[in-house]
Order: sequence, then C-alpha cells, then structure tokens
Amino acid sequence: MLYMITTRLTPQARAFVEPSGILGAVSDMYIRLIPTDLNWQPSREAASAAVAYVAGLFSGPGDAVEHVDYEFYDRITLIDAGENTSQITCSRCRSDISLDWLGDVVRENGGVSFEHLDMTVPCCGAVVGLDTLHYDWPVGFARFEVSAMNPTRAQYELDAQELADMASIVGHPVTQVLAHY
Ligand SMILES: [Zn+2]
Repeated sequence: MLYMITTRLTPQARAFVEPSGILGAVSDMYIRLIPTDLNWQPSREAASAAVAYVAGLFSGPGDAVEHVDYEFYDRITLIDAGENTSQITCSRCRSDISLDWLGDVVRENGGVSFEHLDMTVPCCGAVVGLDTLHYDWPVGFARFEVSAMNPTRAQYELDAQELADMASIVGHPVTQVLAHY
C-alpha cells in the first residue's frame, strides 16, 4: 500500500526536515501555543478568538508580529523548536540520542504528523513515545497550534497570566514552544 503524504509541511517542518536546505538561510522566530493534551482541539470560533488574542499581545507601541495564525492537524504533530533543541535524551536508559535520529524518523514518516508516537530508540532498542523523550529545549506534540511569527515586545514569551487567558479562550490549558529556524 502506498502512503501519501497527506499533511502539508509547514515552513517550520520543512526547515526541520531539510536543515541544510535552502531554507537554512532563513531565520525566523515563532511562539507556538499548543494544548497540553496532545489530542485536544478547540472549536474554530475559539481558534479564531485565540489568534486575535495573541495578535493583541504584540500590538503595543513598538511591538510587532509578522503573522499570527492557527492550524488544525489531523494527526498528532511534532511542534518542534527548530535549532533551539540540540539534544534528546532517552526516557528509558538516559542515553543521549542524536537529533539526526529524529530527523530520520520525521523523513521516514513523511512529515511531522504521526499515526502514533511509539518509536524504537537507537540507544537501548526500547519502544518509547516520542513525547516521553527528554528534549533539552522543550518541544510539543499537538493537533492544534496558534503560532506567532517573529513577535517583538519587551517581554517575549507569554507569561503565566497570558497563558491562563489563552487557556480560557481555547477551552483547555496551553503551553508554549519557543522555536527558532
Ligand atoms: Zn535508550
């Protein structure tokens, strides 16, 4: 059976899959806001309201944000942090796992959206969930995100109150992945 790549690759994902490609010259910062439950999705109305809320956070004097948008994913999707993540550690044997391994997993999977997260790790051969590995810079797994591209303000990431506001808008606790490509 031939598996088609049904999930389009975001610019983030392309940069992740092809770190040395032409997109390697691009440098962009993203704040990626995701539900803490990797399967949870809000309503479209809540997603739109969340985008408006996040855009408003970067609308003060001297503030800026290039683009804010939401994305629904059919399958659980790696919300990576780009080059901010430099090391993965096995949740079973505590050995270091090369980032290249994750890149290979994504390539063989045909993208960053997964049917399931259970993978055989190269260190100890255990089958572990990608979401249980330790990433030295946090990444996430989700079926929904709101991303802010190249946001600028004195306080960069969302604080606890803003995350709580965002949670009440989308209807579920959220966390943020700070990404650099
Ligand atoms: Zn291991």
